[in-house]
Order: sequence, then C-alpha cells, then structure tokens
Amino acid sequence: MLLYHHSDFALHNTQSHPESVARITNVNQMLADSGWVERCTLPTWNPASHVQCQRNHSRTYLKELEDWCQNDAGRVEVDTVVSKGSWTAATLAAGAVCDAIERVVAAEDNTAFCAIRPPGHHALPESAMGFCLLNNIAIGALHARSLGLNRVLIIDWDVHHGNGTQATFWEDPSVGFVSIHRSPFYPGTGSADETGSGKGLGTKVNIPVAASIAPDEFLKRLFESTEKIANQMKPELILLSAGFDAHRNDPVGGLTLESEHYLQAGNWIAALARQHCSGKLVSILEGGYHLKHMPECVDAHLQGIASERV
Ligand SMILES: [Zn+2]
Repeated sequence: MLLYHHSDFALHNTQSHPESVARITNVNQMLADSGWVERCTLPTWNPASHVQCQRNHSRTYLKELEDWCQNDAGRVEVDTVVSKGSWTAATLAAGAVCDAIERVVAAEDNTAFCAIRPPGHHALPESAMGFCLLNNIAIGALHARSLGLNRVLIIDWDVHHGNGTQATFWEDPSVGFVSIHRSPFYPGTGSADETGSGKGLGTKVNIPVAASIAPDEFLKRLFESTEKIANQMKPELILLSAGFDAHRNDPVGGLTLESEHYLQAGNWIAALARQHCSGKLVSILEGGYHLKHMPECVDAHLQGIASERV
C-alpha cells in the first residue's frame, strides 16, 4: 500500500475548530505506532499544480483562496477557517491524491491511503464550504480522466453528503458517485431522488439514512447500492471519500458505527476494487473529529484493506 502523510498538513491552522491540527497529528502518530509507516511505501510528491486545481475550480476562486491565505483571513465561510499555511496544506493534499492516482493507475501498487487535510468533499468549483478548501477527490478523479481513464467510481461514506463532489460530476457519466450519509443533516443535499442529470442521469446514487440506523443495516445499504452501480459502470479505478465521522462518539457527525465496522467496510471495498479494477483503490481522508476514535477507525480501515490482499 502507498501511504501519503506529511507534517505540513499541520500548517493549515484552524485553532479551536473541530477540523484541527490535532486530528492529523494523532493520525500520523497512529500510522507510526501501528507499523503502517514501516509496512507501506512512502512516496514523495508535489503540491497540486494550478492546472490540476483548475480542472475543478475556477481561476477566480483559486485566486481568492490564495489571497485569503496570504492575508491569514480566518473565517471565510460560516464553517471554514483559513490561515497563512492553508494554501500549502490544501495543494499538498490535492497533490497527494493526484500522485496516488498516477501511481495506482501505473500499477506501482494497487492501493493507496492519503492521510490528508483539509478535507475536500464539500468544496464547490467556485467556493470553500464545510471545512473544505479544494475538492481533493474531484481534482483526483479529473486527473484520472486526464490520464485516459474513462470510468471512475467515487464512494463517499463520510457521515455528511459529498455535495461538492456530486456537483462537479452531476452531468458527467464517466464518474459515478455513491454517497451514504445521515439525513436530515448538514449540508442538506443528497436525497435519494438526486441521481444526476443529462448524460450523467443514473450515475449518482444517494443513500440518506437516519441517525439511529443499525451498523449492519448501514453497511448492507452501502454494499448493495454500490455493487449495483459498480456492476453497471465497470469502473477502472475506485476512489473513496473516507470520512470517519459516522463513528458513534464523533462530536460533529455521529451515527452508530464503531471502528470494527470500518475494518469490515475496508475489507469490502478492497474486494470490490479487486473484482472490478485489479484492486485499484485510492482512499482519501475526509472527516472524523474524535481525536482518539478517528485514528482508531483509520487503523481499522487500513487493516481491512490490507487483509483483503492476503
Ligand atoms: Zn463529514
């Protein structure tokens, strides 16, 4: 497995915000303590270029974001904070996803995990939103398209709907999207009747679930709906918005899941990738705000992926 982790993700200084520096510090500590740093390949990579970012975001927004960072702007949107180091962290995050995709597509390895922040799946082409500055997974999927891939499947199991990712690919049949998320909940989108439009109609799948859903039922709905669209579109690459804020103790999200369910889900998604695209899977950290349980969930997720491979 390729592992992307970097101390510079701490440069995005959000102070007392729940999407804190401590999240990534604790994940990095877990990756070292649990032996992932030793076991995985650790590529070096470049920050996402303007060309890569502009595939998903307008020049106007990118300039605005760069200016916010230079000015240490603080709160730029109701939920989102920017500091001087945020541009470095955000472009390094999107760059990690692009690099991971290039290497997985080139078969250097089948699987990659990007331990990055800030998260990305709420970021829209023209604006920051919900703790997100650049939409890392959307930039990644568009990078995969530029490498010649024609069918990419994005799965999003963060507890929040991946509205930014869905917006980018709404009319695009080459990028499938499945999101399971708590409803009603932030950001308010992701009802079951949102299935894409134009040529993209039927390639977007939304699974809104109640906060009280039993973990087995959550996994059953995720697995069944995803397998159906995977059979339909036959992806050449699977990308995962791996949020861990559906953990029962998460202070921002919260559903009923425990870390063992992320082991099960990791195992399943690696098997799905093996079935459809020679195991090609790039997993990308999104939300997850419990400083102890989130790293435990990441560990379980990686164990699930790794154990499928043996
Ligand atoms: Zn979330």
